Amino acid sequence: MAGIRSPIAVVVGHVDVGKTLLLDKIRGTAVAYREPGMITQHIGMSFVPWGAVERFAGPLVDRLRLRGRIWIPGFLFIDTPGHAAFSNLRKRGGSVADVAVLVVDITSGLEEQGLESLNLIRARGVPFVIAANKLDRIYGWQSEENRPFLFAVERQEWHAVAQLEEQIGRLIDQLSRLGIEADRYDRVRDFATQVPIVPTSAVTGEGVADLLLVLAGVSQRFVSKERLTVRDGPARGVVMEVKEERGLGTVADVIIYDGVLRRGDTVVTAGLQGPITAKVKMLIVPKPLDEMRDPEDRYKYVDEVRAAVGVRIVGEGLEGVVPGAPIVAVEGSLEEAVKAVGEEIAAVKIESDKEGV
Ligand code: GDP
Repeated sequence: MAGIRSPIAVVVGHVDVGKTLLLDKIRGTAVAYREPGMITQHIGMSFVPWGAVERFAGPLVDRLRLRGRIWIPGFLFIDTPGHAAFSNLRKRGGSVADVAVLVVDITSGLEEQGLESLNLIRARGVPFVIAANKLDRIYGWQSEENRPFLFAVERQEWHAVAQLEEQIGRLIDQLSRLGIEADRYDRVRDFATQVPIVPTSAVTGEGVADLLLVLAGVSQRFVSKERLTVRDGPARGVVMEVKEERGLGTVADVIIYDGVLRRGDTVVTAGLQGPITAKVKMLIVPKPLDEMRDPEDRYKYVDEVRAAVGVRIVGEGLEGVVPGAPIVAVEGSLEEAVKAVGEEIAAVKIESDKEGV
């Protein structure tokens, strides 16, 4: 059964710009506005269903004329913005992220690691939006919790708006010197050539509605349907983390972005010395919130998972697997899978040599 999955979104940017707090806000929104049964749980990713966004952002959905026009099921946000394998959209290998949110501090503009992320986003051709965060720190800004930016800006004193415009103007200039056309999102005329800037505050929640709606629009327009179509074939994914778990041995937390992974599957992934073959003994996902009886009892074992999903693999032979490595399930010949992983690693080597890492 093929279906359209949620785009995988990553939040990137310089340290301390508010990536973690912004993700917390977005996750909080998903939980507070969820429909019963709509939250699927993941390892390392958070599902934000479109229904929750629509409820949270209602009046803005109408204002931007988006009601009934969104066909993505929601977003899967990668939970660890500081993770080496994702903060720079996986230096090694293609990007697992379909879309990116580049967060900058509205009071200081693009900083060093932000610029690095930007360069990688562009090199990978990942569609992105810019969150100009810490809006509440604009002098004289009157905050109201969770208010959409578009409504908030209409309620401000002229001097606060002038300050805001000055900061956004600076950011636009800075980007323009890098050859990127950008504008405040409500002034963008052509999303194909201009990057939308959404002012946000991770503290007050202002602009978070705008950010999610703009991200949905950009995802639908610039991530191909082909890329978002999940097939029935063998799983393909990326390893996020490898660790020792008491009683389980070595486990790998992975993001599966296509296909189906089953208990008993043989998978090929990679370590520093090259491809590694492992056997999936167990698959673990968190329990849905409403099934969780006590905090000790957070996980459940499943027989199979379908993309896109974040899952913990208990397996034989996972020692030495490196975060960021590709992972594919074997269907047909083992050699083929080993070759596929080997090729991705080889492509990566060439790229990382080019990038000097
Ligand atoms: P990260 O390093 O990019 O993940 O940044 P954090 O989310 O850890 O935030 C860094 C600091 O900035 C923390 O002290 C946050 O409370 C603060 N911060 C984050 N977002 C905002 C915001 O929108 N407004 C204000 N005033 N502070 C913020």
